[in-house]
This record gives sequence, structure tokens and C-alpha cells, in this order.
Amino acid sequence: MQFADRLNNVETSAIRELFKLLGKPGIISFAGGFPDPAMFDIEGIKEASSKALNEEPGGALQYGATEGYGPLREQLSSFMAGKGVTVQPEGLIVTTGSQQALDLLGKTLINPGDKVIVEGPTFLATIQCFRLYGAQVISAPIDAHGVKTDELEWLIAEHKPKFVYLIPTFGNPSGALLTLERRRQVLEMAVRHQTLVVEDDPYGDLYFGEAPPPSLLSLSDSVPGSRELLAHCGSLSKVLSPGLRIGWMIAPPALLANAVMCKQFSDAHTSTFAQATASQYLKAGRMPATLAHVRKVYGQRAAAMGNALKRELGAAVAFEQPQGGLFFWASLTGEGGKTRDAGEFAKKAIEQLVAFVPGAPFYAANPDLATFRLSFATADVGKIEEGIARLGRAV
Ligand code: PMP
Repeated sequence: MQFADRLNNVETSAIRELFKLLGKPGIISFAGGFPDPAMFDIEGIKEASSKALNEEPGGALQYGATEGYGPLREQLSSFMAGKGVTVQPEGLIVTTGSQQALDLLGKTLINPGDKVIVEGPTFLATIQCFRLYGAQVISAPIDAHGVKTDELEWLIAEHKPKFVYLIPTFGNPSGALLTLERRRQVLEMAVRHQTLVVEDDPYGDLYFGEAPPPSLLSLSDSVPGSRELLAHCGSLSKVLSPGLRIGWMIAPPALLANAVMCKQFSDAHTSTFAQATASQYLKAGRMPATLAHVRKVYGQRAAAMGNALKRELGAAVAFEQPQGGLFFWASLTGEGGKTRDAGEFAKKAIEQLVAFVPGAPFYAANPDLATFRLSFATADVGKIEEGIARLGRAV
């Protein structure tokens, strides 16, 4: 069969290959990016879905508007208001997960050969998605405080990208949190260079202590001219349920209109049943308690993982303690002549029945082979301690 040339730009992810090994009995996995199913508010979702069917069967089971189900757009507008963002319901569209928002951005903006700047490392599916549209994906370096804004600005000036894609708050895989100062700098450089910035924010609500600095979108009101250059993607996946596939995008009107046109030909609309359920869930006021719960449990797991890493691996790894999100991003120091190859380390770890993902695939270019990602989301504190002890043996 003759497939489209665009497929030549992408390959199945190395991560998927690794996932095949995870079925081994007794394995403790820090490899996935999934939230813990034990965290799903099943009672709340049951109640919301039956309300959706009882109160609005026409809305919940019929075809719906491509832009999204009206009551959910209103709920999401209030949810964003709670996070310091003023947006009318018409100023956002509902997407099938934030993944679809990323795909729609690719579809509406990228011509083959266009340049897009992302963080190195960044969310793997985004790199693949933009490459599928023919983008040349350029990598901007990060440190513990997110993207290095001085280097980002040089890259923007040199490459004149179609847009810049950032995960400013608890990045995947980096866990990094962009500082307030750098957030301002990003908005200012967007205006200076008239470059569109995409803010992907599925983890912003998942903080463990102090709330993170305001989103780029929220800050944009204080940087004249920046809001028109900003697209923001949100998601209920990490805090409520990824299976509902509820995401949203806030963007300038012309971009939103083109995204809606493309979405029409893609899935017509996001499941109305899922949208009506999410809408009822938000309306019932359950979100604050759910957020408090997930923040607490994931926070305990992150703390346990950080302590165990220090205890069991000591100087063999370097990492920053994440303040939110689902991930530790670590790197092998090579101390005492040990390996600095995270791929080799992953193989040894599997022998010890513990899994994680090597960092290389998360880079669009120039991978740092010493890096790796550990998720603390799905294992409880006991499993985390046992799993990190196994890592200590593997290293
Ligand atoms: N962006 C980032 C940074 C992610 O980590 C994920 C999920 N792993 C997504 C987007 C997609 O999430 P969803 O489609 O479930 O909203």
C-alpha cells in the first residue's frame, strides 16, 4: 500500500516499544503518563452522567455544535475565571482532549517546511503531531526554571517560527515550572517578534504547595498586545479523567474559527455525552474537593519519590523536586564511573522489575542521553519506595 509522504516524518514512539515490556509480572512502573485510576471521582462522575441523561437527554445524546456544548463552555469560562482568566464562553472551544487542540493548531498553522520551536525536552506526541504536518521542529533548551528565555529569543529571531509551543507549568517530561519573570519575558518577546505562542497547560491545577505563577494567558492582560498572540490549551484529563476526553482551547477569534472549521471535518464535535457529564460535574461544584484530593495524594507521592531517590541513588542522579504535575526528570551523573546512558539503565532496571522512560525521545534534536523520566502518579508510597530501591540496585 502506498501511504502519504507525510508519514515519513514520524516514527512510532520508542516509548510505545518500552510499554510492551510492562506486562512482566511483578513490575513496578514509573513509565506511564497516566493519572491514577484510584483518583477518579467515580461517584461524582456517575451522578453527573445520570443528571446529564435525565435533565438534558437531547443535549447529551444528539449531535452537537462543533464549538462545544453551550453549558460546558459556560462552566469552563467560570473555571478559567477562577484561574484569573477572563474569557467569554464564545472565546473557547471544547476539544477532544487537549491533544486534539494541538492537532488543530498543527492543521490550521503548519505548512510543510514551517519552523516551530518547542522546549527540549517536550511532550513527545506534540513533536510527532507537528512533524506529521511537515514542521521542522526546533528545540529550545530548558533548565530547572523552564525554557531559557534568552536562548528562546535568539532562536525566534534566527528562525522566525510559525509559533512557539511551551508547557510553562510542570512540563511533561521536565516537571519544570517557568518563573514569573520568564513568563513576562515570553509574552514580551511574542509581541516584539509578533510570534504566536501556544501555552499547553494540562498540569497547572496539579500543584502540591503554593499555587504556581499565573498562566501566560492570565498574565497576557498585563502585557499589551500579547493576548492576540496566545493560544492556550486546557484539559480535564489529569485532574478528573482522561477517558472523558475533555479539553479546550482559548485563542484569538480567527484562529479559533479556523480550528472549528478543521474540527468539523475531523470529529464534528467532542462527544456530547462526555461534555454534558463534565458540565454537570463542574456545575455540581465538586471540582474544588477533587483538586484538593489529587494535589494531596500526588504531593505525598512526589515527596516520597524525592526522598527515596536521594536515599537509594545518592550522587548517581541529579534532579529537581517537582512542585506539581506527574513527573520527575532526572539525569545520570556518571559518578563513580557508573553509566550515563539512560537507555542502558532502563534495561538494567527492567531486569530488577522496575520501569521508567529514557529521556532521549522527548527531544526534537540533540537529546541528552543521560536523562530519564519517572512518573509518581500510579504507584502508592510503598510501591514508590520499593521501586526506587530496585532502581538503586540497577544503577
Ligand atoms: N499536553 C501534554 C503536555 C500532555 O502531557 C498531555 C497528556 N499526556 C496532553 C497534552 C494531552 O492530554 P489530553 O488529550 O488527555 O488532554
